[in-house]
Amino acid sequence: MSSRAEFLQNKLDALLTIANHNEQKQTHFQEYELSLLNSSGLFELLSILLESHQVQFQLTEVALVLLDPEYEFQRLLDSYEIPNAWQNRLLFADSEQALHQDYKIPYRPRLSEYIPQQHQALFSNNNTLRSVAILPLIRQHKIIGSLNLGSRQVDRFQSGIGTQFLQHLTAVISACLENARLQESIKQLGLLDPLTAINNRRFFDQRVIEETSLAQRNNTPLSCLFIDLDHFKSINDQYGHQAGDNVLKQAAKIFTDIMRTSDILARYGGEEFVILLTNTPLQTAYDIAERIRKIIAAHDFKISSSQSLSITLSIGIAVLDESKRINTSQQLIKAADEAVYDAKLNGRNRVHHAI
Ligand code: GH3
Ligand code: MG
Ligand code: MG
Repeated sequence: MSSRAEFLQNKLDALLTIANHNEQKQTHFQEYELSLLNSSGLFELLSILLESHQVQFQLTEVALVLLDPEYEFQRLLDSYEIPNAWQNRLLFADSEQALHQDYKIPYRPRLSEYIPQQHQALFSNNNTLRSVAILPLIRQHKIIGSLNLGSRQVDRFQSGIGTQFLQHLTAVISACLENARLQESIKQLGLLDPLTAINNRRFFDQRVIEETSLAQRNNTPLSCLFIDLDHFKSINDQYGHQAGDNVLKQAAKIFTDIMRTSDILARYGGEEFVILLTNTPLQTAYDIAERIRKIIAAHDFKISSSQSLSITLSIGIAVLDESKRINTSQQLIKAADEAVYDAKLNGRNRVHHAI
């Protein structure tokens, strides 16, 4: 081969290598984009952004700031256990001003060297960074947060390089975040009681089936408390429907505070609540029910700035038990409901268990 031909061949090889490399990069990016678009919900999306992203793109640090003026994201995430790895990396700003002032988020993507005074608030876990990409997330011309990437390599993020690619990425992320937020809130609305903000009957009906089969498989005791407020109609009649609503909210709050994390509470209907106590035998369930009964009976329910009232409730207990033919979730609820009926017949403000 002539030296000219050899020169051209080498050049072609080099170009092919670059083309190959770029193609690999693009495939890699497309796969990542697909994983974002296919994520099943808000929690999974955040895991991809805060965990997989860092590994896939060999970053030293990733932080996400979400603009959350009404605490909606934070409320939606309340029902999840937030991984330790997200500490100081999932950040919230309660106003656009805070986003710019506290976190120094610019309006356009900014790739630069790491400057402690400017970037420390975003990357407080890491002090080894040398270059950063601060990428505002924009949705319908409004800023909704920012994705922040940090690298130990000083030349990883440089002004003007790869901005188009990153802008595309942030547009996808912004759309996914918005979508996941909406989906999550619809999902939670469908399973939450709007008045008391605890689980509703639909949620409970699903959970009780799961917990029943789990208890049977593991051979652990499962107890169910059926709670019915006493003479609740007369509260409405005497003080008005709003006062009644107010009492229901306060009662739900008290139940929530008493519960252990493994217990499952729901508003079953009007003034009826259920609590599933996992891995709990009758005697413990009885003690818990008595505690609830006493706390409620002693509580001052405020219904206006100057008025408060006392209420009582009755509780029926049933435990999953083959020998009593309480074998299914339906039989469990029915038995607890019948027990509360007995408690009513026996004078109310008492706990009864299914026999
Ligand atoms: P008992 O001691 O026998 O349980 O008497 P009770 O009055 O509590 O029972 P009953 O089932 O006769 O009446 C329940 C009342 O609860 C009727 C209804 O007006 C009231 N209620 C149901 N849901 C709500 C609600 O969301 N808000 C208010 N304020 N009242 C409700
Ligand atoms: Mg009732
Ligand atoms: Mg009642």
